[in-house]
Amino acid sequence: MKLTVVGWAGSFPGPDSPASCYLLEHDGARILLDLGNGSLGALQKYTDMYAIDGVFLSHLHVDHCIDLCSYYVARKYDPDAAHGRIPVFGPKGTADRMAAAYGLPLRPGMHDEFNFMRHEPDATVIGPFSIETARVAHPVETYAIKVTAGGRSVVYSGDTGPTEALVELATGADLALFEASFVDRPDNPADLHLTGAQAAEHAKRAGVDRLLLTHLVAWNDSRQVLAEAADVYDGELLLAANGLQLEV
Ligand SMILES: [Zn+2]
Repeated sequence: MKLTVVGWAGSFPGPDSPASCYLLEHDGARILLDLGNGSLGALQKYTDMYAIDGVFLSHLHVDHCIDLCSYYVARKYDPDAAHGRIPVFGPKGTADRMAAAYGLPLRPGMHDEFNFMRHEPDATVIGPFSIETARVAHPVETYAIKVTAGGRSVVYSGDTGPTEALVELATGADLALFEASFVDRPDNPADLHLTGAQAAEHAKRAGVDRLLLTHLVAWNDSRQVLAEAADVYDGELLLAANGLQLEV
């Protein structure tokens, strides 16, 4: 399975990166984890944007979902081809939120372009991918997402504060793609985001020996985030970067 970092900027897009979006490819199939601000443009550097088989949204904060509105336009109005519906998995109310964001009536909203479904407790299968989710600790309904293909697996944290649910979902995975929005400070709010050290600790407790830190926020020094993670983690440790590709 191949992972491409399409966007890694935390909380809002930066001058050098879109907000959250990750492309996973295996055996000619492609899925996206999140479609944050600016990511649809960057996605086109790495793949035909119409060749996506499914979209999984961790939650409905705009830096994780809002470019679905742009993707709706691209699929609906392409003068050269008709594009069928693809599945979009998300929290409760995803279809209505996306329609409202675009100023569409809720019916049909984007239902002709996307088959909206809620994240299921049981595994979802799309082509060669098997996808499992777990509810994590964030102010809105948010899911960590585990993707398995070809016997290998990636776990994406979404946005979350410290939670056992992430450790459980990631146990046995080959790559932890965990957010590290915070640096260590005494006044970090609870149930919102992880520090680099907390992301590393979660990966370590899950027994994952490769950690890719992402959702890096502009007002933190990423070197500090990485250093704090390195203090508690012995495995391979990486910072997300534009177009970074990893074979998992
Ligand atoms: Zn969020």
